[in-house]
Amino acid sequence: MIPGPFRYRRAESLDEAIGLLAQLGTDAKVLSGGQSLIPMMKFRLAEPSYIVDINRVPGLDFIEERDGVLRIGALVRESALERSALVRARYPILHDTAEVIADPLVRNLATVGGNLAHGDPANDHPATMLALRAQVVARGPSGERVISIDDFFVDTFVTVLQPDEILTEIRIPAPPPRSGGAYLKFERKVGDYAIAAAAVFLALDEAGRIAQAGIGLTNLAYKPLRAVDAERVLIGQTPSEELFRQAAELAAQATDPVSDLRGPAEYKRAVARTMTLRALRRALERARASA
Ligand SMILES: Cc1cc2nc3c(=O)[nH]c(=O)nc-3n(C[C@H](O)[C@H](O)[C@H](O)COP(=O)(O)OP(=O)(O)OC[C@H]3O[C@@H](n4cnc5c(N)ncnc54)[C@H](O)[C@@H]3O)c2cc1C
Repeated sequence: MIPGPFRYRRAESLDEAIGLLAQLGTDAKVLSGGQSLIPMMKFRLAEPSYIVDINRVPGLDFIEERDGVLRIGALVRESALERSALVRARYPILHDTAEVIADPLVRNLATVGGNLAHGDPANDHPATMLALRAQVVARGPSGERVISIDDFFVDTFVTVLQPDEILTEIRIPAPPPRSGGAYLKFERKVGDYAIAAAAVFLALDEAGRIAQAGIGLTNLAYKPLRAVDAERVLIGQTPSEELFRQAAELAAQATDPVSDLRGPAEYKRAVARTMTLRALRRALERARASA
């Protein structure tokens, strides 16, 4: 439980942090809340020669809705997301997600940016961001790029971020009228990673049919999963229990879980089906309440 030797550099600006990463190369790792990186280092699963601490970098800690987009700075802590009145009122799915991550001590340090950048399919935000069709903003030596969340996760603990890039912001389209989302997680005990979890976002048209559907799944494959077939079956349909059961079944079929201490693969697939069904019901309730 003791990390290997490493050097510590603290950046005071984004440019300085990017410069350090460019100079130090693949030997360096960004440090945000340290809630995944430090445990990985203690288990010697990560052995960076340098860590570049970005906690003092100004301008990365904001939650604001502007021009039809919710912008979340990379250094926003989970506890800030959980406490945000804007998030609670307009993006309850994000509130659902933040409040089931780990425990209050972890949430006080862990950042939303770090949760995505870590690329862990067991982390909770990726599924929610997939359901919400988020975009990730990254800055590197050659400037800024905006990445669709669908293109962001590559493999277990691997994202499209380059070693000299910093995730600076997450952008989420503001919810249209008659829309709602929910994140439901099943865990062995409070604070644990998910056995399985589902994020659902639904938007209804004026006739009450489903105009937009997003379904993301946690810890059910080698990377965070979007249940595309399940989304497709919902579009243009009037919500019903039968339709939701069909979508939940398709979502479960899209999974590829492994058997481990959290249970056999078949059990996890069954939990995925149930969590998706429940999240669909709750998202619909919220969509109808927002009309
Ligand atoms: C006891 C415990 C329980 C946990 N339970 C859960 C849980 O239930 N659900 C859950 O989702 N997570 C859980 N976590 C994991 C943790 O909450 C998240 O992974 C965390 O949010 C990561 O954010 P961080 O700021 O701590 O990232 P760090 O640990 O600082 O970094 C994680 C990785 O991302 C990279 N990184 C961080 N920020 C950036 C950036 N801005 N740009 C580029 N790369 C970056 C780092 O280099 C590192 O590779 C748990 C952690 C602990 C210790």
